[in-house]
Amino acid sequence: MSPSKVSNIEFDKFYNIVNGEQRGSKEIHHGVNPSTGEELWDVPIASEQDFNDTVAAAKKAFPAWRDTPVEKRKELLMKFAELFQQHADEFTKLLCKESGKPQKVAAIEVGGVSGFIQYHCSLDIPSDKFDDDEKTVYTEYTALGVCGGIIPWNFPLILSVGKVAPALLTGNTMIVKPSPFTPYTGLKMVELAQQIFPPGVVSAVGGNNELGAMLTTHPDVAKISFTGSIATGKKVMEASAKTLKRVTLELGGNDASIILPDVDIKKVAPEVVMGAFQNSGQVCVATKRIYIHESIYQDFLQEMVNFVKTIKVGAPEEGDNLLGPVQNSMQYEKVKTYFADSKAKGYKFAVGEPDIQDSKGFFIKPTIIDNPPNDSKIISEEPFGPIVPTQPWSDLDEVIARANDTNTGLGGCVWGKDVEKAMSVARRMEAGSIFVNSWEKPTPQAIFGGHKESGIGGEWGKTGLLAFMNARVIHVYKN
Ligand code: NAD
Repeated sequence: MSPSKVSNIEFDKFYNIVNGEQRGSKEIHHGVNPSTGEELWDVPIASEQDFNDTVAAAKKAFPAWRDTPVEKRKELLMKFAELFQQHADEFTKLLCKESGKPQKVAAIEVGGVSGFIQYHCSLDIPSDKFDDDEKTVYTEYTALGVCGGIIPWNFPLILSVGKVAPALLTGNTMIVKPSPFTPYTGLKMVELAQQIFPPGVVSAVGGNNELGAMLTTHPDVAKISFTGSIATGKKVMEASAKTLKRVTLELGGNDASIILPDVDIKKVAPEVVMGAFQNSGQVCVATKRIYIHESIYQDFLQEMVNFVKTIKVGAPEEGDNLLGPVQNSMQYEKVKTYFADSKAKGYKFAVGEPDIQDSKGFFIKPTIIDNPPNDSKIISEEPFGPIVPTQPWSDLDEVIARANDTNTGLGGCVWGKDVEKAMSVARRMEAGSIFVNSWEKPTPQAIFGGHKESGIGGEWGKTGLLAFMNARVIHVYKN
Protein backbone atom coordinates (compact mmCIF):
# COMPACT_ATOMS: atom_id res chain seq x y z
CA MET A 1 0.00 0.00 0.00
CA SER A 2 1.99 3.00 -1.19
CA PRO A 3 0.93 6.60 -1.34
CA SER A 4 0.25 8.44 -4.59
CA LYS A 5 2.98 10.20 -6.49
CA VAL A 6 2.07 13.88 -5.98
CA SER A 7 5.03 15.43 -4.19
CA ASN A 8 5.48 19.03 -5.34
CA ILE A 9 2.81 21.16 -3.71
CA GLU A 10 2.46 24.66 -5.10
CA PHE A 11 -0.10 26.97 -3.59
CA ASP A 12 -0.82 28.89 -6.79
CA LYS A 13 -1.63 26.00 -9.14
CA PHE A 14 -4.78 23.95 -8.75
CA TYR A 15 -5.79 20.52 -10.00
CA ASN A 16 -8.47 17.93 -9.71
CA ILE A 17 -7.12 14.86 -7.96
CA VAL A 18 -8.02 11.74 -9.90
CA ASN A 19 -6.61 8.32 -8.99
CA GLY A 20 -3.90 9.95 -6.89
CA GLU A 21 -2.75 12.26 -9.68
CA GLN A 22 -3.05 15.94 -10.50
CA ARG A 23 -5.27 16.48 -13.48
CA GLY A 24 -5.96 19.71 -15.35
CA SER A 25 -8.84 20.37 -17.72
CA LYS A 26 -9.56 22.23 -20.94
CA GLU A 27 -12.32 24.08 -19.13
CA ILE A 28 -11.41 26.35 -16.26
CA HIS A 29 -13.11 28.68 -13.85
CA HIS A 30 -11.90 30.79 -10.95
CA GLY A 31 -12.90 32.09 -7.56
CA VAL A 32 -13.13 35.78 -6.73
CA ASN A 33 -11.33 37.49 -3.86
CA PRO A 34 -14.30 38.85 -1.89
CA SER A 35 -12.22 41.67 -0.40
CA THR A 36 -11.29 43.11 -3.79
CA GLY A 37 -13.66 41.60 -6.35
CA GLU A 38 -10.59 40.41 -8.30
CA GLU A 39 -10.35 37.03 -9.99
CA LEU A 40 -8.19 34.45 -8.27
CA TRP A 41 -6.24 31.56 -9.84
CA ASP A 42 -7.60 29.30 -12.58
CA VAL A 43 -9.19 26.05 -11.43
CA PRO A 44 -9.96 23.15 -13.75
CA ILE A 45 -13.59 22.13 -14.16
CA ALA A 46 -13.77 18.34 -14.08
CA SER A 47 -15.31 16.87 -17.23
CA GLU A 48 -17.70 13.94 -17.17
CA GLN A 49 -14.75 11.72 -18.10
CA ASP A 50 -12.68 13.13 -15.19
CA PHE A 51 -15.60 12.51 -12.90
CA ASN A 52 -16.17 8.93 -14.07
CA ASP A 53 -12.43 8.20 -13.76
CA THR A 54 -12.50 9.55 -10.22
CA VAL A 55 -15.40 7.34 -9.19
CA ALA A 56 -13.76 4.32 -10.86
CA ALA A 57 -10.49 4.94 -8.99
CA ALA A 58 -12.32 5.40 -5.67
CA LYS A 59 -14.24 2.18 -6.29
CA LYS A 60 -11.06 0.30 -7.12
CA ALA A 61 -9.29 1.60 -4.02
CA PHE A 62 -12.17 0.72 -1.70
CA PRO A 63 -11.69 -3.01 -0.93
CA ALA A 64 -8.01 -2.69 0.02
CA TRP A 65 -8.66 0.43 2.10
CA ARG A 66 -11.64 -1.17 3.86
CA ASP A 67 -9.53 -4.23 4.65
CA THR A 68 -6.60 -2.18 5.93
CA PRO A 69 -6.61 -2.57 9.74
CA VAL A 70 -8.25 0.40 11.42
CA GLU A 71 -5.09 1.09 13.44
CA LYS A 72 -3.16 1.50 10.18
CA ARG A 73 -5.85 3.79 8.77
CA LYS A 74 -5.59 5.88 11.94
CA GLU A 75 -1.80 5.98 11.64
CA LEU A 76 -2.07 7.39 8.11
CA LEU A 77 -4.73 9.89 9.12
CA MET A 78 -2.52 11.09 11.98
CA LYS A 79 0.42 11.41 9.58
CA PHE A 80 -1.76 13.48 7.30
CA ALA A 81 -2.79 15.74 10.20
CA GLU A 82 0.92 16.34 10.92
CA LEU A 83 1.74 17.01 7.27
CA PHE A 84 -1.18 19.41 6.92
CA GLN A 85 -0.06 21.28 10.04
CA GLN A 86 3.38 21.80 8.46
CA HIS A 87 1.61 23.78 5.71
CA ALA A 88 -0.68 25.71 8.07
CA ASP A 89 0.64 29.14 7.06
CA GLU A 90 0.16 28.51 3.34
CA PHE A 91 -3.37 27.19 3.92
CA THR A 92 -4.20 30.21 6.09
CA LYS A 93 -3.07 32.62 3.35
CA LEU A 94 -5.03 30.69 0.74
CA LEU A 95 -8.16 30.61 2.90
CA CYS A 96 -7.90 34.38 3.48
CA LYS A 97 -7.75 34.95 -0.28
CA GLU A 98 -10.66 32.71 -1.22
CA SER A 99 -12.99 33.43 1.72
CA GLY A 100 -11.99 36.96 2.83
CA LYS A 101 -11.75 35.75 6.46
CA PRO A 102 -9.55 37.76 8.81
CA GLN A 103 -6.21 36.02 9.34
CA LYS A 104 -6.87 35.07 12.97
CA VAL A 105 -10.21 33.55 12.01
CA ALA A 106 -8.77 31.69 9.01
CA ALA A 107 -5.96 30.35 11.23
CA ILE A 108 -8.57 28.88 13.60
CA GLU A 109 -10.23 27.00 10.74
CA VAL A 110 -6.86 25.74 9.49
CA GLY A 111 -5.86 24.65 13.01
CA GLY A 112 -9.17 22.83 13.29
CA VAL A 113 -8.24 20.45 10.47
CA SER A 114 -5.61 18.56 12.48
CA GLY A 115 -7.75 18.79 15.61
CA PHE A 116 -10.64 17.24 13.76
CA ILE A 117 -8.58 14.33 12.47
CA GLN A 118 -6.86 13.74 15.80
CA TYR A 119 -10.16 13.58 17.68
CA HIS A 120 -11.66 11.14 15.18
CA CYS A 121 -8.58 8.92 15.46
CA SER A 122 -9.25 8.59 19.20
CA LEU A 123 -12.57 6.86 18.46
CA ASP A 124 -13.21 3.15 18.16
CA ILE A 125 -15.46 1.69 15.50
CA PRO A 126 -18.63 0.78 17.40
CA SER A 127 -19.67 -2.86 17.91
CA ASP A 128 -22.05 -4.79 20.15
CA LYS A 129 -22.44 -8.36 21.40
CA PHE A 130 -25.49 -10.15 22.78
CA ASP A 131 -25.25 -13.58 24.32
CA ASP A 132 -27.83 -16.09 25.62
CA ASP A 133 -28.06 -19.89 25.93
CA GLU A 134 -29.00 -20.34 22.30
CA LYS A 135 -26.82 -17.85 20.39
CA THR A 136 -24.30 -15.05 20.30
CA VAL A 137 -25.22 -12.03 18.21
CA TYR A 138 -22.43 -9.77 16.98
CA THR A 139 -23.45 -6.35 15.70
CA GLU A 140 -20.66 -4.97 13.57
CA TYR A 141 -20.40 -1.98 11.30
CA THR A 142 -18.86 -2.03 7.84
CA ALA A 143 -17.81 0.68 5.42
CA LEU A 144 -20.27 1.78 2.73
CA GLY A 145 -17.95 2.20 -0.28
CA VAL A 146 -17.36 5.37 -2.29
CA CYS A 147 -18.66 8.47 -0.49
CA GLY A 148 -19.21 11.89 -2.06
CA GLY A 149 -18.66 15.01 0.05
CA ILE A 150 -20.43 18.11 -1.28
CA ILE A 151 -19.16 21.27 0.41
CA PRO A 152 -20.55 24.83 0.75
CA TRP A 153 -18.44 28.00 0.60
CA ASN A 154 -18.56 29.22 4.19
CA PHE A 155 -16.05 26.78 5.77
CA PRO A 156 -14.33 25.10 2.82
CA LEU A 157 -11.65 23.36 4.88
CA ILE A 158 -13.31 22.32 8.09
CA LEU A 159 -16.42 21.06 6.32
CA SER A 160 -14.24 19.03 3.93
CA VAL A 161 -12.15 17.41 6.64
CA GLY A 162 -15.32 16.89 8.68
CA LYS A 163 -16.37 14.44 5.97
CA VAL A 164 -12.98 13.03 4.96
CA ALA A 165 -11.82 12.10 8.48
CA PRO A 166 -14.79 9.94 9.54
CA ALA A 167 -15.19 8.46 6.03
CA LEU A 168 -11.57 7.30 5.79
CA LEU A 169 -11.41 6.22 9.41
CA THR A 170 -14.37 3.89 8.91
CA GLY A 171 -12.83 2.38 5.74
CA ASN A 172 -14.63 4.28 2.99
CA THR A 173 -13.06 6.11 0.08
CA MET A 174 -14.09 9.72 -0.44
CA ILE A 175 -14.53 12.17 -3.31
CA VAL A 176 -14.62 15.82 -2.25
CA LYS A 177 -16.50 18.34 -4.37
CA PRO A 178 -15.75 21.87 -3.17
CA SER A 179 -18.05 24.83 -3.74
CA PRO A 180 -17.32 26.65 -7.01
CA PHE A 181 -17.06 29.84 -4.91
CA THR A 182 -14.24 28.45 -2.73
CA PRO A 183 -12.47 25.67 -4.61
CA TYR A 184 -8.86 26.37 -3.60
CA THR A 185 -8.22 25.10 -0.06
CA GLY A 186 -10.33 21.96 -0.49
CA LEU A 187 -8.54 20.92 -3.70
CA LYS A 188 -5.14 21.69 -2.18
CA MET A 189 -5.87 19.73 1.00
CA VAL A 190 -6.80 16.65 -1.04
CA GLU A 191 -3.72 17.13 -3.24
CA LEU A 192 -1.53 17.18 -0.15
CA ALA A 193 -3.24 14.06 1.16
CA GLN A 194 -1.86 12.12 -1.84
CA GLN A 195 1.53 12.10 -0.10
CA ILE A 196 0.01 9.85 2.55
CA PHE A 197 -2.88 7.82 1.15
CA PRO A 198 -2.95 5.26 -1.68
CA PRO A 199 -4.42 6.45 -5.03
CA GLY A 200 -8.20 6.72 -5.06
CA VAL A 201 -8.66 6.73 -1.27
CA VAL A 202 -9.33 10.46 -1.24
CA SER A 203 -9.98 12.38 -4.46
CA ALA A 204 -11.30 15.81 -5.42
CA VAL A 205 -13.21 17.13 -8.39
CA GLY A 206 -13.77 20.84 -8.81
CA GLY A 207 -16.46 22.36 -10.95
CA ASN A 208 -19.96 23.72 -10.94
CA ASN A 209 -23.21 22.57 -9.39
CA GLU A 210 -23.71 19.97 -12.15
CA LEU A 211 -20.79 18.02 -10.75
CA GLY A 212 -22.57 17.76 -7.40
CA ALA A 213 -25.64 16.50 -9.23
CA MET A 214 -23.48 13.88 -11.01
CA LEU A 215 -22.26 12.60 -7.64
CA THR A 216 -25.84 12.16 -6.46
CA THR A 217 -26.81 10.01 -9.45
CA HIS A 218 -23.72 7.85 -10.09
CA PRO A 219 -24.57 4.20 -9.29
CA ASP A 220 -21.11 3.50 -7.82
CA VAL A 221 -21.38 6.21 -5.19
CA ALA A 222 -22.77 4.70 -1.99
CA LYS A 223 -23.26 7.79 0.12
CA ILE A 224 -23.64 11.54 -0.17
CA SER A 225 -22.52 13.69 2.71
CA PHE A 226 -23.97 17.08 1.82
CA THR A 227 -23.64 20.43 3.54
CA GLY A 228 -25.43 23.38 2.01
CA SER A 229 -28.79 25.04 1.58
CA ILE A 230 -32.18 23.47 2.27
CA ALA A 231 -33.25 23.90 -1.35
CA THR A 232 -30.22 22.02 -2.71
CA GLY A 233 -30.45 19.43 0.07
CA LYS A 234 -33.92 18.49 -1.14
CA LYS A 235 -32.59 18.02 -4.68
CA VAL A 236 -29.76 15.86 -3.35
CA MET A 237 -32.17 13.63 -1.47
CA GLU A 238 -34.46 13.29 -4.45
CA ALA A 239 -31.63 12.42 -6.84
CA SER A 240 -29.99 10.02 -4.36
CA ALA A 241 -33.25 8.13 -3.93
CA LYS A 242 -32.90 6.72 -7.44
CA THR A 243 -30.00 4.50 -6.34
CA LEU A 244 -30.97 4.48 -2.64
CA LYS A 245 -27.74 6.12 -1.57
CA ARG A 246 -27.26 6.86 2.08
CA VAL A 247 -27.50 10.60 2.60
CA THR A 248 -26.57 12.95 5.37
CA LEU A 249 -27.92 16.43 4.87
CA GLU A 250 -26.54 19.31 6.95
CA LEU A 251 -28.65 22.27 5.90
CA GLY A 252 -29.57 25.81 6.83
CA GLY A 253 -30.91 27.10 10.12
CA ASN A 254 -32.63 30.02 11.81
CA ASP A 255 -31.19 29.71 15.32
CA ALA A 256 -32.89 31.44 18.22
CA SER A 257 -30.95 32.78 21.20
CA ILE A 258 -33.06 33.18 24.35
CA ILE A 259 -31.76 35.61 26.99
CA LEU A 260 -33.14 34.94 30.48
CA PRO A 261 -33.60 37.93 32.82
CA ASP A 262 -30.80 37.02 35.27
CA VAL A 263 -27.83 37.32 32.86
CA ASP A 264 -24.81 39.53 33.47
CA ILE A 265 -25.66 42.02 30.70
CA LYS A 266 -22.18 43.45 30.15
CA LYS A 267 -20.62 40.01 29.87
CA VAL A 268 -23.29 38.27 27.81
CA ALA A 269 -24.34 40.97 25.30
CA PRO A 270 -20.99 40.95 23.38
CA GLU A 271 -21.05 37.13 23.33
CA VAL A 272 -24.53 37.11 21.80
CA VAL A 273 -23.28 39.60 19.19
CA MET A 274 -20.45 37.18 18.35
CA GLY A 275 -22.99 34.39 17.95
CA ALA A 276 -24.84 36.44 15.36
CA PHE A 277 -21.90 37.94 13.49
CA GLN A 278 -19.25 35.20 13.58
CA ASN A 279 -17.87 34.85 10.04
CA SER A 280 -20.08 37.84 9.11
CA GLY A 281 -23.18 35.79 9.88
CA GLN A 282 -22.30 33.20 7.23
CA VAL A 283 -22.59 30.24 9.55
CA CYS A 284 -25.33 27.62 9.42
CA VAL A 285 -25.55 27.76 13.21
CA ALA A 286 -25.12 31.50 13.63
CA THR A 287 -27.66 33.13 15.93
CA LYS A 288 -30.33 34.48 13.61
CA ARG A 289 -33.04 35.60 16.06
CA ILE A 290 -32.39 37.13 19.50
CA TYR A 291 -35.08 37.05 22.21
CA ILE A 292 -34.29 39.25 25.23
CA HIS A 293 -36.38 39.34 28.42
CA GLU A 294 -38.37 42.57 28.45
CA SER A 295 -37.04 43.61 31.91
CA ILE A 296 -33.52 43.99 30.44
CA TYR A 297 -34.38 44.52 26.76
CA GLN A 298 -33.21 48.13 26.39
CA ASP A 299 -30.04 47.76 28.48
CA PHE A 300 -29.06 44.52 26.79
CA LEU A 301 -29.67 45.91 23.31
CA GLN A 302 -27.64 49.01 24.19
CA GLU A 303 -24.69 46.82 25.29
CA MET A 304 -24.94 44.88 22.03
CA VAL A 305 -24.94 48.13 20.06
CA ASN A 306 -21.92 49.40 22.03
CA PHE A 307 -19.99 46.25 21.19
CA VAL A 308 -21.02 46.22 17.53
CA LYS A 309 -19.66 49.77 17.19
CA THR A 310 -16.19 48.50 18.20
CA ILE A 311 -16.12 45.74 15.56
CA LYS A 312 -13.67 46.31 12.73
CA VAL A 313 -14.63 45.00 9.31
CA GLY A 314 -12.08 44.75 6.52
CA ALA A 315 -9.81 42.74 4.24
CA PRO A 316 -7.58 40.03 5.77
CA GLU A 317 -4.35 41.88 5.02
CA GLU A 318 -5.62 45.10 6.63
CA GLY A 319 -4.71 43.89 10.12
CA ASP A 320 -6.76 43.43 13.20
CA ASN A 321 -10.30 42.95 11.86
CA LEU A 322 -12.91 40.81 13.55
CA LEU A 323 -15.04 40.41 10.42
CA GLY A 324 -14.38 40.12 6.71
CA PRO A 325 -16.62 40.58 3.68
CA VAL A 326 -19.55 38.48 2.55
CA GLN A 327 -17.96 35.66 0.56
CA ASN A 328 -19.47 36.15 -2.90
CA SER A 329 -21.51 38.57 -4.98
CA MET A 330 -24.58 36.29 -5.12
CA GLN A 331 -24.75 36.20 -1.31
CA TYR A 332 -23.95 39.94 -1.09
CA GLU A 333 -26.95 40.75 -3.27
CA LYS A 334 -29.12 38.37 -1.24
CA VAL A 335 -28.11 39.93 2.10
CA LYS A 336 -28.84 43.40 0.71
CA THR A 337 -32.49 42.39 0.21
CA TYR A 338 -32.86 42.05 4.03
CA PHE A 339 -31.58 45.60 4.44
CA ALA A 340 -33.87 46.92 1.69
CA ASP A 341 -36.90 45.11 3.12
CA SER A 342 -36.21 46.33 6.67
CA LYS A 343 -35.80 49.90 5.42
CA ALA A 344 -38.92 49.76 3.23
CA LYS A 345 -41.02 48.44 6.13
CA GLY A 346 -39.69 51.17 8.43
CA TYR A 347 -38.04 48.84 10.97
CA LYS A 348 -35.67 50.44 13.47
CA PHE A 349 -31.94 49.98 12.80
CA ALA A 350 -30.42 49.87 16.31
CA VAL A 351 -26.97 49.90 14.73
CA GLY A 352 -25.75 49.64 11.12
CA GLU A 353 -26.92 51.46 8.04
CA PRO A 354 -29.95 50.70 5.85
CA ASP A 355 -28.05 51.66 2.69
CA ILE A 356 -24.97 49.59 1.97
CA GLN A 357 -22.17 51.64 0.44
CA ASP A 358 -20.77 49.84 -2.57
CA SER A 359 -17.05 49.21 -2.28
CA LYS A 360 -14.43 47.10 -4.07
CA GLY A 361 -15.21 44.11 -1.87
CA PHE A 362 -18.47 42.69 -0.54
CA PHE A 363 -18.33 44.48 2.83
CA ILE A 364 -21.39 44.97 5.03
CA LYS A 365 -21.34 46.50 8.51
CA PRO A 366 -22.95 44.36 11.24
CA THR A 367 -26.51 45.51 11.74
CA ILE A 368 -29.20 44.93 14.38
CA ILE A 369 -32.91 45.39 13.62
CA ASP A 370 -34.81 46.37 16.78
CA ASN A 371 -38.08 44.48 17.27
CA PRO A 372 -39.43 43.78 13.77
CA PRO A 373 -42.73 41.86 13.61
CA ASN A 374 -42.85 38.04 13.79
CA ASP A 375 -43.76 37.65 10.14
CA SER A 376 -40.99 39.94 8.84
CA LYS A 377 -38.51 38.61 6.28
CA ILE A 378 -35.61 39.17 8.69
CA ILE A 379 -37.26 36.96 11.37
CA SER A 380 -38.71 34.24 9.18
CA GLU A 381 -35.81 33.64 6.74
CA GLU A 382 -32.10 32.84 7.04
CA PRO A 383 -30.18 35.93 5.80
CA PHE A 384 -26.72 34.26 6.09
CA GLY A 385 -25.07 37.65 6.50
CA PRO A 386 -24.28 40.27 9.19
CA ILE A 387 -27.84 41.38 10.03
CA VAL A 388 -29.87 40.10 12.98
CA PRO A 389 -33.20 40.96 14.66
CA THR A 390 -33.91 41.33 18.40
CA GLN A 391 -37.31 41.02 20.08
CA PRO A 392 -38.44 41.30 23.72
CA TRP A 393 -40.30 38.51 25.56
CA SER A 394 -42.16 38.23 28.86
CA ASP A 395 -43.63 34.70 29.05
CA LEU A 396 -41.24 31.73 28.90
CA ASP A 397 -43.71 29.30 27.27
CA GLU A 398 -44.56 31.90 24.66
CA VAL A 399 -40.92 32.67 23.75
CA ILE A 400 -40.04 28.99 23.47
CA ALA A 401 -43.00 28.58 21.12
CA ARG A 402 -41.75 31.60 19.13
CA ALA A 403 -38.23 30.14 18.96
CA ASN A 404 -39.63 26.83 17.70
CA ASP A 405 -42.01 28.43 15.22
CA THR A 406 -39.84 27.72 12.17
CA ASN A 407 -39.36 24.96 9.61
CA THR A 408 -35.68 24.73 10.65
CA GLY A 409 -34.04 23.27 13.75
CA LEU A 410 -30.28 23.37 13.48
CA GLY A 411 -29.05 25.11 16.64
CA GLY A 412 -29.94 27.54 19.38
CA CYS A 413 -28.66 29.23 22.54
CA VAL A 414 -29.96 29.85 26.05
CA TRP A 415 -28.25 32.35 28.35
CA GLY A 416 -28.90 32.50 32.11
CA LYS A 417 -27.09 32.51 35.47
CA ASP A 418 -29.31 29.70 36.72
CA VAL A 419 -27.82 26.89 34.64
CA GLU A 420 -30.47 24.31 35.60
CA LYS A 421 -33.19 26.66 34.43
CA ALA A 422 -31.30 27.45 31.21
CA MET A 423 -30.88 23.72 30.55
CA SER A 424 -34.59 23.12 31.07
CA VAL A 425 -35.27 25.76 28.40
CA ALA A 426 -32.63 24.16 26.12
CA ARG A 427 -34.42 20.81 26.39
CA ARG A 428 -37.59 22.39 25.06
CA MET A 429 -35.94 23.77 21.93
CA GLU A 430 -36.53 21.83 18.72
CA ALA A 431 -33.00 21.80 17.32
CA GLY A 432 -29.97 19.53 16.97
CA SER A 433 -27.37 21.49 18.98
CA ILE A 434 -28.28 23.83 21.84
CA PHE A 435 -25.61 25.89 23.57
CA VAL A 436 -26.07 27.03 27.16
CA ASN A 437 -24.12 30.18 28.07
CA SER A 438 -22.14 30.12 24.85
CA TRP A 439 -22.75 31.06 21.27
CA GLU A 440 -22.87 28.26 18.73
CA LYS A 441 -19.56 26.40 18.59
CA PRO A 442 -20.00 22.99 16.96
CA THR A 443 -17.27 20.54 17.91
CA PRO A 444 -15.94 17.26 16.47
CA GLN A 445 -16.66 15.58 19.81
CA ALA A 446 -20.42 15.47 19.23
CA ILE A 447 -22.76 14.55 16.43
CA PHE A 448 -23.89 17.59 14.45
CA GLY A 449 -27.21 17.51 12.62
CA GLY A 450 -30.47 19.36 12.34
CA HIS A 451 -34.12 18.75 13.18
CA LYS A 452 -36.97 19.50 10.77
CA GLU A 453 -35.78 20.92 7.43
CA SER A 454 -32.29 21.61 8.79
CA GLY A 455 -31.27 18.14 7.72
CA ILE A 456 -31.38 14.39 7.87
CA GLY A 457 -28.98 12.43 10.06
CA GLY A 458 -25.73 13.84 11.37
CA GLU A 459 -21.98 13.38 11.36
CA TRP A 460 -19.01 13.93 13.74
CA GLY A 461 -18.37 12.45 17.14
CA LYS A 462 -18.75 8.80 18.04
CA THR A 463 -22.39 8.56 16.94
CA GLY A 464 -21.57 10.35 13.69
CA LEU A 465 -19.31 7.48 12.60
CA LEU A 466 -22.42 5.37 12.06
CA ALA A 467 -23.40 7.68 9.19
CA PHE A 468 -20.52 6.17 7.19
CA MET A 469 -21.31 2.52 7.93
CA ASN A 470 -23.82 -0.25 7.39
CA ALA A 471 -24.77 -2.52 10.26
CA ARG A 472 -23.93 -6.18 9.71
CA VAL A 473 -25.23 -8.58 12.34
CA ILE A 474 -23.78 -12.07 12.65
CA HIS A 475 -26.01 -14.50 14.56
CA VAL A 476 -23.99 -17.49 15.77
CA TYR A 477 -26.09 -20.41 17.07
CA LYS A 478 -24.60 -22.67 19.71
CA ASN A 479 -24.27 -26.35 18.84
P1 NAD B 1 -25.64 25.43 -1.86
O1 NAD B 1 -26.69 24.47 -1.48
O2 NAD B 1 -25.91 26.44 -2.88
O3 NAD B 1 -24.33 24.65 -2.35
C1 NAD B 1 -23.69 23.67 -1.57
C2 NAD B 1 -22.94 22.70 -2.47
O4 NAD B 1 -23.88 21.97 -3.26
C3 NAD B 1 -21.99 23.36 -3.46
O5 NAD B 1 -20.81 22.58 -3.54
C4 NAD B 1 -22.76 23.29 -4.77
O6 NAD B 1 -21.92 23.28 -5.91
C5 NAD B 1 -23.48 21.97 -4.62
N1 NAD B 1 -24.69 21.81 -5.45
C6 NAD B 1 -25.46 22.75 -6.01
N2 NAD B 1 -26.51 22.19 -6.67
C7 NAD B 1 -26.39 20.86 -6.51
C8 NAD B 1 -27.18 19.73 -6.92
N3 NAD B 1 -28.30 19.88 -7.62
N4 NAD B 1 -26.78 18.51 -6.54
C9 NAD B 1 -25.66 18.33 -5.79
N5 NAD B 1 -24.88 19.35 -5.39
C10 NAD B 1 -25.24 20.60 -5.73
O7 NAD B 1 -25.20 26.11 -0.47
P2 NAD B 1 -24.15 27.28 -0.23
O8 NAD B 1 -24.77 28.57 -0.70
O9 NAD B 1 -22.81 26.88 -0.73
O10 NAD B 1 -24.05 27.31 1.36
C11 NAD B 1 -24.88 28.10 2.17
C12 NAD B 1 -25.97 27.28 2.82
O11 NAD B 1 -25.42 26.13 3.44
C13 NAD B 1 -26.71 28.01 3.93
O12 NAD B 1 -28.10 27.77 3.85
C14 NAD B 1 -26.16 27.40 5.20
O13 NAD B 1 -27.01 27.52 6.31
C15 NAD B 1 -25.89 26.01 4.78
N6 NAD B 1 -24.85 25.41 5.61
C16 NAD B 1 -25.20 24.37 6.45
C17 NAD B 1 -24.25 23.82 7.28
C18 NAD B 1 -24.61 22.68 8.22
O14 NAD B 1 -23.70 21.98 8.65
N7 NAD B 1 -25.85 22.45 8.54
C19 NAD B 1 -22.94 24.29 7.26
C20 NAD B 1 -22.61 25.32 6.38
C21 NAD B 1 -23.60 25.87 5.56
